[in-house]
Amino acid sequence: MSLKCTSNDQELLSIDFDNEGWENLRARNRKDRALKMTCCGADVVLRQTKLGTQYFAHAKKGRCTAVTDTAEAMIAREAIAKAVRRAGWNASLEMPRAPVEEGGWTLDVQADREGGKPVAFKVQWGRLPLDEVAHYQAMSQAAGIRTLWFMRQQSIPVEKATPAFRLSHDVDTNTCFVSLPGPCYHPVFASSKNSEGPNYWQQHVDLGSFVEGALAGKLRFAPQVGCTLPLDVCVAYTECWRCKKTTGLVIDLCFAASRVLQGAADVTANIYDFDDERRGADLLMATLPVETLARHGIGAIKPRFSRTEGRTCLSNGCIHCDALQGRFFDHEVAYDAQPVLSVDVLFDDRWVSHLEDRDAIDRWWFDDRPCDGAAEDAPQS
Ligand SMILES: [Zn+2]
Ligand SMILES: [Zn+2]
Repeated sequence: MSLKCTSNDQELLSIDFDNEGWENLRARNRKDRALKMTCCGADVVLRQTKLGTQYFAHAKKGRCTAVTDTAEAMIAREAIAKAVRRAGWNASLEMPRAPVEEGGWTLDVQADREGGKPVAFKVQWGRLPLDEVAHYQAMSQAAGIRTLWFMRQQSIPVEKATPAFRLSHDVDTNTCFVSLPGPCYHPVFASSKNSEGPNYWQQHVDLGSFVEGALAGKLRFAPQVGCTLPLDVCVAYTECWRCKKTTGLVIDLCFAASRVLQGAADVTANIYDFDDERRGADLLMATLPVETLARHGIGAIKPRFSRTEGRTCLSNGCIHCDALQGRFFDHEVAYDAQPVLSVDVLFDDRWVSHLEDRDAIDRWWFDDRPCDGAAEDAPQS
């Protein structure tokens, strides 16, 4: 089954035919049998999958080893090809990249445009181990093609080198949609039992719109990096152990990416992430200066000597007597912490390099904002 065939050595694509054109082609082919399969040259019959995708099938299967696709894979391929064209790119269908003895690797749709690098789309409806995904990706990269994967399985790669997204078919609307892994997603733990939660899949986008957007540069890895983000400072108020007066402690730092980049994950940190006695501490102290914190009843963040730790460390302190407020306070009052102030920061490597946990950052993000006005705070990737 295929979306293309040949007629007197000319390639025909099923997506070029409306219903009427399709019926005319069928009638003509019945008479002249001019249509041939591209895989083996066999005669062609015109068919339709149960989901309504028009395709070319072998009149007689014979000895051809071409694989049979599911109706879902076919409708996805059709949607991708049409979207590639809407985006103004040339679409080539079912491009063989490896012979059958090497796994019969075929790229479903390849998008080309003058002066641009080709982008290919691979629909993977059947299960494929991640090491094989990596193998095929390396092969496609060696051929100079950037391949995006649409996979039905729960376990998909999350990495810049292998853009991969979950593909589903919605029976009610008979359309395909793409889901992007969210901050809690990890391919090793993802299974059909546990991974349907909202934190696993952060954005859901119609497949056609996704392909169009991907070709227009709306797909980004680590979207927060390089953006100006609101830094929400979450504070809890407690009694100073020394002077017994109330002072505010900075408990959490939240880089609220979701307010700037809809659907992107917020990045959380705490002041101890920046406790490097140099650049990290300087950056945080410059961003949250004493006067700003004081306006909200919060003591200075600065290095103080901690007897508990036996060293000088970046710490919260009392706004009244400057006594170091130890980390153990965090556990007792952390649950009461509320965002009390927000400052805009350029979230670049000065910040990112201090974060141990990059799970919220190293994810794909699809920019589904309308084109006008989106450019202003778009990250440069
Ligand atoms: Zn064939
Ligand atoms: Zn005090």
